[in-house]
Amino acid sequence: MIVVMKHSATEENIQSIIQKLYSLGLDAHLSRGASITIIGVVGDKSKFLAENPQLMPGVEKLVPISESYKVANIKFHPEPTIIDVNGVKIGGNNFVIMAGPCAIESYDQLMASAVAAKNAGAQILRGGAYKPRTSPYSFQGLEEEGLRYMAEIREKTGMAVITEVTSCKAAETAVNYVDIMQIGARNMQNFELLKEVGKSNLPILLKRGLSATIDEWLNAAEYIMSEGNEKVILCERGIRTYETSTRNTLDISAIPVLRSKTHLPILVDPSHASGVRDYIAPLSRAAVAVGADGLEIEVHPNPAAAMSDGSQSLNPEDFKALCEELKPYIQLAGRKF
Ligand code: PEP
Ligand code: MN
Repeated sequence: MIVVMKHSATEENIQSIIQKLYSLGLDAHLSRGASITIIGVVGDKSKFLAENPQLMPGVEKLVPISESYKVANIKFHPEPTIIDVNGVKIGGNNFVIMAGPCAIESYDQLMASAVAAKNAGAQILRGGAYKPRTSPYSFQGLEEEGLRYMAEIREKTGMAVITEVTSCKAAETAVNYVDIMQIGARNMQNFELLKEVGKSNLPILLKRGLSATIDEWLNAAEYIMSEGNEKVILCERGIRTYETSTRNTLDISAIPVLRSKTHLPILVDPSHASGVRDYIAPLSRAAVAVGADGLEIEVHPNPAAAMSDGSQSLNPEDFKALCEELKPYIQLAGRKF
């Protein structure tokens, strides 16, 4: 439930509602927009309703929220959330590109990827140190050694860095090296991991599960946010369908659907969505047009030699060309890149 305050409500009115909620053992989520102030009620609202809150000074109306996700809900927070990562803004009118290799293979490979990403205008370097591979015999990642390379390259290039964490232990280690932690598709409903990263202060990029509905995805975001970490970025990376021409099927409609349901920033990953490098550019254009807040793209200095996902990785020249090609589309979408 949310409490919508009147325009004329005073700070004292707002604070007395928040204090009332606390005194009942509930939590309050204050959202001050340009024209409207909303207090989200978190917890058993029946105790609050028993106090006749509609009669409290400054209250305009009480609105129930039927969805099971609350803090992630646009009704709780009508303004878009903008997440600041070392000065890079994600959400609002900004457009962010995260680029880098699927897996960190060596210092030189990651550095070459960082140079390529930065040179093309990408603001954030991605790279996997813990790789959730389909086969247990495939390369599993350099783990902490890879994270050390990331942190070193962050220092040298000034780029913010993101890596996937596949377990609570990996998250405990990664917080010391990176700026954003990624929860991959395979772990979208790993609730212990969601709760663990919910206790951290780092922004979390939450990818959509392989077969997850949008409601399940938003509930996964709620798991993180209900622990206190509200810096969640959603990333549509394609879903399982009957189609086999592409690795997954990019659910482009998920972007406007999410936009109507949540205030969180929304990215698109055309690399994992398609699995085919030639489809990355058209899907990126579609993502810009449909209103995504950014892209996550796999870039490798030599895709033919990549230890994972080479067929969906762009080389530095093609990535630079893609970023150039996207600029007018991004501008047309009214965004800053
Ligand atoms: C990745 O980004 O490296 C990755 C494994 O993606 P996903 O979780 O979407 O498969
Ligand atoms: Mn990959």
